[in-house]
Amino acid sequence: MKWAHGSSEVTRLDTHLFRADDGELLVERVCVRELAERYGTPLHVLSETRLRENYRRIRDAFVERWEAGVEVCYSIKANPALAVRRVLADEGAHGDCLGLPELQASLLAGTPGPTLVLNGNNKADTAIQAAIRCGARINVDDPGEPARIRAIAAAEGRRARVGMRMKPDPAPLAGRRTELASGTVGSYVQRSKWGLGPHDCVATARSILKMEELELVGLHCHLGRHVPEVELFGGLAASLSETLALVAREVGWSPQVLTVGGGFTQGRDPYFRTPCEGGVWPRVEDDFVAPIEHYADALCSALGEGLSSAGLPAPRLGLEPGRYIAGSAGITVTTVGTVKRSSDRVWVEVDAAITQIGMSRSPTDAHALTAVHAAGRPEEVVDVVGPLCVLDLIAEQVPLEALYEGELLAILDTGAYADGEASNANSIGRPAVVLVCGGQADLIRRRETLADVFARDAIPPRLLGEGAGRGADQRA
Ligand SMILES: *Cc1c(COP(=O)(O)O)cnc(C)c1O
Repeated sequence: MKWAHGSSEVTRLDTHLFRADDGELLVERVCVRELAERYGTPLHVLSETRLRENYRRIRDAFVERWEAGVEVCYSIKANPALAVRRVLADEGAHGDCLGLPELQASLLAGTPGPTLVLNGNNKADTAIQAAIRCGARINVDDPGEPARIRAIAAAEGRRARVGMRMKPDPAPLAGRRTELASGTVGSYVQRSKWGLGPHDCVATARSILKMEELELVGLHCHLGRHVPEVELFGGLAASLSETLALVAREVGWSPQVLTVGGGFTQGRDPYFRTPCEGGVWPRVEDDFVAPIEHYADALCSALGEGLSSAGLPAPRLGLEPGRYIAGSAGITVTTVGTVKRSSDRVWVEVDAAITQIGMSRSPTDAHALTAVHAAGRPEEVVDVVGPLCVLDLIAEQVPLEALYEGELLAILDTGAYADGEASNANSIGRPAVVLVCGGQADLIRRRETLADVFARDAIPPRLLGEGAGRGADQRA
């Protein structure tokens, strides 16, 4: 099989996406059409090089701006494929895990336990125990949790390293708009179940510091993804500094590591509708949101100011990027079936479903769609729809090069929160995932079969037999 297009002219669309002179789309040096022929569609294709580049870029952006040291925890929920976690472990990325399954997956992929952080509310004892055994840090989410951790640590005969998840002070975030819910970021934070408010942090730190079985090392916060605006992160830093100062004043403790969570926007952010200025769609190779270095600037300078004005030492800085690392590393390849035309609308019906490319995405804009084999045909305005029983709108009213049945379409930036959140809606199996590195392609998740989809099912024998008891209850 011919993967490499080394000799042909290629045009760079992105750092990992190329267009060969014969119109073929490549991920690194691998021809996407050949991947679709080999593995079928819909198919997720990930670029290993891009994963590594994204990790290094966010790490370096913060390392250059934060002298006290930086730890980048990959948030495995964004893309839980073990091979992805393996690549990032190879890069030295630490890990954010919610609950036991993500902790186990991270360990299975070879991430060292002491570089992992266990997050989550209402944690199972088994998760706490596993974290203590592998040396992961546990972020306490409620005031009763330290006592539970203490009991488990005592039974294990080991000390537990813990942090506290804080609820940021909503005041500095009160005026900030959010696209996650109605209201502001401030009101979202107030409603959110996560973490301990400033005064609960003080009380919880006090009780943890009295427990010999626990070592209090961190403070943690994850605001979530609200808007791509850089200024939000300055507001977050201001809010965190206030809590740090309060805890230091009241308890005389300050963290070795301060984690600010994830939520960093990826280049072409598929979670917010990108305004289409003057009817001109941005090109594939453009970033539409600020580069990560601007986020690092905003966070590091506001945090530096907040800490120094409170007279506090700078802790190590923890980051938990998920979408930033995985999002732009993936595309989803889908086959065009029926193209349905009415007098006022054209539906390009494809085999990928909205549940397979990310439920929380906005309907995809034209900038994140491209023909796999660009034939240079004129564009038409179409809706791209999947097979599900809901609207299943992958893209609405976007200009797209005319496509015909059997041709392939690539949906860009599906590396995060696509496969990990996919469901079996309408009994459809989840797509296969392929990891590309240079000229090599490896299957890292096979396609789900019908047998996989119904693997949990059982029909009770009484419903199958013709025996006397059949349906007796209903007939009685
Ligand atoms: C989801 C999550 C992240 C990652 O968020 P992204 O928006 O993907 O960067 C980080 N930390 C915690 C605690 C999370 O729940």
